[in-house]
Amino acid sequence: MKKLALSYLVFLIVISFSYDANGNQTSAPNGLTITYNSINQPQQVKSGSTVKHKFAYLVDGRKLHFISDPANDGGLAYIGSSVFKIYRGKYDGFESTSFSAGRIVRSGSSYAVQYHITDHLGSVRVVLNQSMTVIEQNDYYPFGMRRSISSSTTNRYHYNGKEDISATATSDYGARQYSAEFCQWMQEDPLAEKYYYWSPYNFCLGNPLKFVDPDGRKVRFANGSTEEFKNAFAQAVQHLNNHGAGGMLAELEKSDKVYYLSNIGSDDTKGSCFNFREGTIYWNPNGGILTTNFVELSPTSVLNHEIDHALQFDKNPQQFHKDRKTEVRQYTNKEEQRVITGSEQETAKKLGEINEGEVTREDHRGQPYETTGPTSTQNVLEVIAKP
Ligand SMILES: [Zn+2]
Repeated sequence: MKKLALSYLVFLIVISFSYDANGNQTSAPNGLTITYNSINQPQQVKSGSTVKHKFAYLVDGRKLHFISDPANDGGLAYIGSSVFKIYRGKYDGFESTSFSAGRIVRSGSSYAVQYHITDHLGSVRVVLNQSMTVIEQNDYYPFGMRRSISSSTTNRYHYNGKEDISATATSDYGARQYSAEFCQWMQEDPLAEKYYYWSPYNFCLGNPLKFVDPDGRKVRFANGSTEEFKNAFAQAVQHLNNHGAGGMLAELEKSDKVYYLSNIGSDDTKGSCFNFREGTIYWNPNGGILTTNFVELSPTSVLNHEIDHALQFDKNPQQFHKDRKTEVRQYTNKEEQRVITGSEQETAKKLGEINEGEVTREDHRGQPYETTGPTSTQNVLEVIAKP
């Protein structure tokens, strides 16, 4: 019985972190202390009184120097896509350069090409040498901890294809460093105030398998999509799903074709749209529409409108083309009439943007305005105007 009782013992382990006034993590349970520069990038990493790493950044946030061997003033210098060695505070020759399929690495006086095979999250799973021999193989835990299967090489690029920072065991995402060990960022999201309902330190809204590539299937982000944009899309999708309005996106993801989602930016006066030639939904995650019926449609509502166009193009392309060429006075064309009188009403009702018996609009017009977030109908100007 004594043995049984022991198995119910729970050990409570308290792990604590410290932060500076800007929300940067200054100490972690691994015993390291970190100081930051004025743009919230790491400056120095210490273990006790020993300096382990030093960093230098350009004012625009680009990493310039990474001193990993402070005793010899040695490390790496980042210049464009190339990396150079530093020794005794001086440039000490070429180290490596990245290209779309991997890296070119210097080894002594020769140069070797290393090819990276990545998964759907961009994580490097296999490194091949020039004779296509596997020289490194990795698996990853869901939040990015690496589990090397075969012996490692000098490759520093792993989870999500980001560079490892050795002493802190973090991945460098450019704007911030991520700790796969603790599943959190070292710094706050620079746009945290826009996403106050998520933690400023959250990674992929707590769902790394889904949200780096939010669908992982047929709707993909256009090249160069920012993390902010991906988060905004993830919020919109969650909002649609929470209100039973995510059906059209789910249908679109069953398609054989690939569709892209691209940020049009807030200064684009054209507003969100579906471009069938490019198979791309252009979406402004802060773009609401004030309709001619004085209804405020959230960016999420607008997104679902465009998803309906994409879905019709996917399922009934002939009808799609016929309808968009059929002029209907107040609705521009028959395809717009179909979406506005159909799914637009359903979506707005489900999201609580119109009441039963109301309609969003009876035309294809509206005044674009900037909302406080992707799921909000609140005008950003109203918030600013309040004392
Ligand atoms: Zn439309």
